[in-house]
Amino acid sequence: MFDALSSKLEIALDRVRGRGRLDAATVDATLKEIRLALLEADVNFKVVKGIVERLRERLVGEEVAKALNPAQQVVKAVSQELERALGGESAGLALTGKPAVIMLAGLQGSGKTTAAGKLAKLLKSKGRHPMLVACDLQRPAAVQQLKVNAERVGVHVYAPVTAGDPVPVARESIAKARESGCDVVIVDTAGRLHVDEELMGQAAAIREAVQPDETLFVIDAMIGQEAVNVARAFLDGVGFDGVILSKLDGDARGGAALSVREVTGKPIKFASIGEKMEDFEAFHPDRMASRILGMGDVMTLIEKAEATYSEEEAQKAETALMSGEFTLEDFLEQMQMLKRMGPLQGLLGMMPGMGKQLKDVDVDDKQVARVEAIIRSMTPKERREPKILNGRRRKRIAAGSGTTVPEVNRLVKQFAEVQKIMKSASKMAGMQGTKPKGV
Ligand code: GDP
Repeated sequence: MFDALSSKLEIALDRVRGRGRLDAATVDATLKEIRLALLEADVNFKVVKGIVERLRERLVGEEVAKALNPAQQVVKAVSQELERALGGESAGLALTGKPAVIMLAGLQGSGKTTAAGKLAKLLKSKGRHPMLVACDLQRPAAVQQLKVNAERVGVHVYAPVTAGDPVPVARESIAKARESGCDVVIVDTAGRLHVDEELMGQAAAIREAVQPDETLFVIDAMIGQEAVNVARAFLDGVGFDGVILSKLDGDARGGAALSVREVTGKPIKFASIGEKMEDFEAFHPDRMASRILGMGDVMTLIEKAEATYSEEEAQKAETALMSGEFTLEDFLEQMQMLKRMGPLQGLLGMMPGMGKQLKDVDVDDKQVARVEAIIRSMTPKERREPKILNGRRRKRIAAGSGTTVPEVNRLVKQFAEVQKIMKSASKMAGMQGTKPKGV
């Protein structure tokens, strides 16, 4: 997510790091690089212009000139401008209807049906009782996919077999939800490959019929510059209250995320970050800005952990981490728990300062099985005290686990690194300490 943009901004900011004073030429050169980095990430040119102009005003200001550490001020200014472009405050869902109605709209393939399942899973975890409603009647596969998603996340689905008009289906779903004891209805609508009048008309008619509490526009972050035009067309043709950015896990350059809010004035409410039902997050502009600048996102990491671990597991992990007696056995357990939270690469990207180092770290999920074999081939004493692992022991472990001595060596080294990271992450968590907000 945002890899290219992050590394380019990093290079731009490196220019000012370690400088005692900021002269006009340095500010100019830095801004030029930031501008280029944003344009290359497909951010809309008007949005880029706004960000750079505001940055210029701030960077030539007195505050930065007088600062003892101007680099910090510059990073802070860039971070705040990114946050502002992403929408500033986090926006939750306002669900008041009984049942509350959420409607999803967007182009075909943007990720609506997937997002419907993910949103249902998220709302269910908050104690709501969602019902998915299939109003994408053009593609029989879409109805089937919605049913599968409903089953995967364990929620009700309303998908009557009809090839006709989706408007009555949407309307009926409200009564069906009440009958089934559901308090949120999530309406999945049809999309087309391109914006067209008929599609807009149908979505607008559904919106009119069910009067949603929230109409969410789903946009594929991978479509780059085009995102802005599609978003504008949906805003005019259907109207919406918020945005779900999907496929942010791909090599999306980030342009859609940074443009859609400024261009439509509507907040980004969720980010979809993978094909699995749990790959879905509430969108927080401050955290995303921090991630883009390689400063990590400890809050999201903590929330993911809270959602994944039982209290008992969390307590055990915390004790292991804080006691300083974090052994290879704990490490193995942690890795297995981490795996449940999602792909390791994504998780490490949320740790402060990890962005740049990630390229050098081996975080292939398949490696976990080999690591497990290596640890299982160690004696309990070796797991507790890896420093006793001499050449002879390492050879024995490699043979026992069906791996090689270099692999064993690498694990022992990585373990020491992870131990360090875990310690600093838990310290950061303690410092931030605020309770996360709900949806
Ligand atoms: P719809 O036509 O708008 O309903 O789109 P779908 O929900 O069917 O999604 C289209 C394709 O994108 C499917 O293959 C999904 O698995 C995939 N997809 C949806 N959301 C994401 C995401 O956040 N990340 C990735 N990698 N794939 C996604």
